[in-house]
Amino acid sequence: MERVDCVVIGAGVVGLACARALALAGREVVVLEAAGAIGTETSSRNSEVIHAGIYYPPGSQKARLCVAGKQLLYPYCEEHGVGHRRCGKLIVATAADQIAALHRIQTHAAANGVRDLRLLAADEARAMEPELRCVAALYSPSTGIIDSHGLMLACQGDAEDHGAMLALHSPVTGGALEAGGIVLDVGGAEPMRICAHTVVNSAGLMAQRVAAAVRGFPQGKVPPCHYAKGNYYSLARRSPFTHLIYPVPEAAGLGVHLTLDLAGQARFGPDVEWIAEIDYDVDLRRADGFYRAIRDYWPGLRDGQLAPGYAGIRPKLDGPGKPAGDFLIQGPAEHGVQGLVNLFGIESPGLTASLALAEQVVEIAGRT
Ligand SMILES: Cc1cc2nc3c(=O)[nH]c(=O)nc-3n(C[C@H](O)[C@H](O)[C@H](O)COP(=O)(O)OP(=O)(O)OC[C@H]3O[C@@H](n4cnc5c(N)ncnc54)[C@H](O)[C@@H]3O)c2cc1C
Repeated sequence: MERVDCVVIGAGVVGLACARALALAGREVVVLEAAGAIGTETSSRNSEVIHAGIYYPPGSQKARLCVAGKQLLYPYCEEHGVGHRRCGKLIVATAADQIAALHRIQTHAAANGVRDLRLLAADEARAMEPELRCVAALYSPSTGIIDSHGLMLACQGDAEDHGAMLALHSPVTGGALEAGGIVLDVGGAEPMRICAHTVVNSAGLMAQRVAAAVRGFPQGKVPPCHYAKGNYYSLARRSPFTHLIYPVPEAAGLGVHLTLDLAGQARFGPDVEWIAEIDYDVDLRRADGFYRAIRDYWPGLRDGQLAPGYAGIRPKLDGPGKPAGDFLIQGPAEHGVQGLVNLFGIESPGLTASLALAEQVVEIAGRT
C-alpha cells in the first residue's frame, strides 16, 4: 500500500488551491481526481465572477473567506498572469420599492468589510450603461471577472513546482480509518489503496458521498446535499454592457444577472432549478423566464437574441425555501476523526474564496 502525507480528493479550484497551499507549506501532496482532466465540474460551470463579499451573513465563513479570497486573488492573478478584469458591477433597482433594498445591501456589505459600494441615481447609472433601465443602482468597484481555468492551471503549476502530484482517472471509491492513517480505495484502470496522514475531501458535488464511504466516519456528521442547478443563456450579439449587471437578489440565488467573459461576451444566469441527479443539459423551456427577468433591467433585449449556454450545479446544504447555508469546513474538532478535513456546501463564492479557504485548510491540517 502506498503511503503519503496528504491526499486531496478532487481537482476543482478548491482542491487545487488546497494542494498548492499544502505543498507550499512543505507537505507531501497527492491529488486524486476522478475525471480525466482538472476542473470539469462546478469549477468550469460558474459565472467566473470575483465577488466583492456583499451579501453573505456577517461573520459567516462565506463572508470572511470571500473578502479575504478576493484580496488574495487579484494580486495572485497579477503575479501569475491569470486572466482577470476588475470590471465592477451594478446592482439595479428597477422599481422604487427596491431602493430600500439597495440601502440595506450597502449597510450589510459594510458589516462584511466591503465599504466601497456607491449608491447611484438612475442618470448616473445610465451614464455608465446607456441601455440600462433602473431607478437607482449600487456600484461595486471591487467586483471582477476571472479565467477560472487559468486560475486552476496556476494553482496546479504552483503545487507541482513544490512537489505535489496530480493523478487523473483516480476516483476515490471508499476508505477506512485505520491506526496508521486514513486508507483510501482508489478505482480506475489500476485500482490501489493509499494511506494518508491527512485527507482533504474536496469532491464538490460528491463530497458527502465520499465522506459517507469512509468506514468508521461518523455518518451523523455527513450533512444533506441538495443540488440547485443554474442554467445560463448567452447573448447572440455583442454586449452593450461593460459592467456586470445584477438585479436585487432573490431567495435562492442572486437572480438572473449579466456577467461578461474576458472576451466581453455576455451571458445571463444562473437561475435556480432544484434537481435530484447531476444533469448539465440547459433546460430550453426556461428561456421565456430569462427574457422576462432580463427585460426588467434591459428592455432592449430582442426576441431570438438568447442562445442556450451551459449549466452548473450548486452543492447546497439546505433545500428549497431555506436560506442558503454557510460553507461547512469540517475538521477533527467538528467530527472527531484525526487527519480528515471535509469541505461541504462549497457553492458560490467558492471560486473567489478558494485561496483563503485553502489557507484555512492548511491551518486545520497542521493541527492534525
Ligand atoms: C451556477 C454556479 C455559479 C457560480 N458562480 C460563481 C462565481 O461567479 N464566483 C464564485 O466565486 N463562485 C461561483 N460559484 C461557486 C464555485 O464555482 C464553486 O464554489 C467552486 O467551483 C467549487 O470548487 P470545488 O473544487 O469545491 O468543486 P468542483 O469544481 O466540483 O471539483 C470537485 C472535483 O472533485 C472530483 N471528484 C468528485 N468525486 C470524486 C471522487 N470520488 N474521487 C476523486 N475525485 C472526485 C470532481 O471530478 C471534480 O473535479 C458558482 C457555482 C455555481 C454552481
